[in-house]
Amino acid sequence: MNTVFSAFRGRLGGKPAVESQPEARLTHRAAFAIDHHRRPRVIPENEGLAIVKYGLREWPVLIDTSPCNFGGYRRWLVCGTCQAKRVALYVFGEHLACRKCMGLRYGCQHESERDRAYRRANAIRELLNWKPGIAHPNGPKPLGMHRTTFNRLVTEHDSLVNRLLGNASKWIEQAESRLQRMGR
Ligand SMILES: [Zn+2]
Repeated sequence: MNTVFSAFRGRLGGKPAVESQPEARLTHRAAFAIDHHRRPRVIPENEGLAIVKYGLREWPVLIDTSPCNFGGYRRWLVCGTCQAKRVALYVFGEHLACRKCMGLRYGCQHESERDRAYRRANAIRELLNWKPGIAHPNGPKPLGMHRTTFNRLVTEHDSLVNRLLGNASKWIEQAESRLQRMGR
C-alpha cells in the first residue's frame, strides 16, 4: 500500500499539570495529500479536546488521559470511530481514525491474516467511497461504477467482514469459557 508515514509531536500549552504531549503520527496516501509538505497538526483546545488540522481539513479529537507509573499522565487521542485511546490517528481521504479502524498496518510489521483481511476490507470500502472501518454499515453503489463490479466487491467485502467478526465472536466465546473455568 502506498502510505506515507510521518511523525509529528504536538505541544500542549497552558495547563501546568500536563507534562506529556499528545503525539499524533499520521499517515496518508500521497494521492490525498493536498499539500504533502505540510504535516498534520494537533492543536489542543482545552484539556479534553484537540483539533487535528491537515491541509484544508480539520477534525475535533477528544483527548483522554491515563496515569503513568511514575506520576503524571499519559495523554491519548481518542479515535472518533471506535472511541479507543490511541497514540496515533491517521488521515485517510476525508477521515481521521486509528490504525485498526483504517485497517492500516505498520510498514515492516508482520502482517497477520486478520490484518490482511482488515486491510482488504477497508481497501474495498475506499473503492466504494464507504466510511472506513468494517464496523460501519455498507454504503450505496458509487456513481459510475458498473453493477457487476459493485456486486463483486460487496460480496468480497461481506465475506471478509463475516470472517473478521466471526473470529471476534470465537475469541469472545473462548474468553467467556475461560472465565467460566476460572469460576467467575
Ligand atoms: Zn478506531
